[in-house]
Amino acid sequence: MHHFPRPSELTLSVTREPVDGLCPVCGRESLARYPVVAEHGWTIVTKCQTCLHSVERSPHSPLGSITLLSDSV
Ligand SMILES: [Zn+2]
Repeated sequence: MHHFPRPSELTLSVTREPVDGLCPVCGRESLARYPVVAEHGWTIVTKCQTCLHSVERSPHSPLGSITLLSDSV
């Protein structure tokens, strides 16, 4: 691991997809969806970028990052 001062979940080089809607916790419109590596593999999280509240979590395919790349082309 490198010496990142921030939580590793926020420093992954993944594409964050902006999500419409307000955070139910802090009320800000700063939701984003992106894949993270969890214990069971890739997981898609929708998370407030302001207070880091997890709005939604859903399992992702093992090739999640590749799928994301093809979707963005
Ligand atoms: Zn929030």
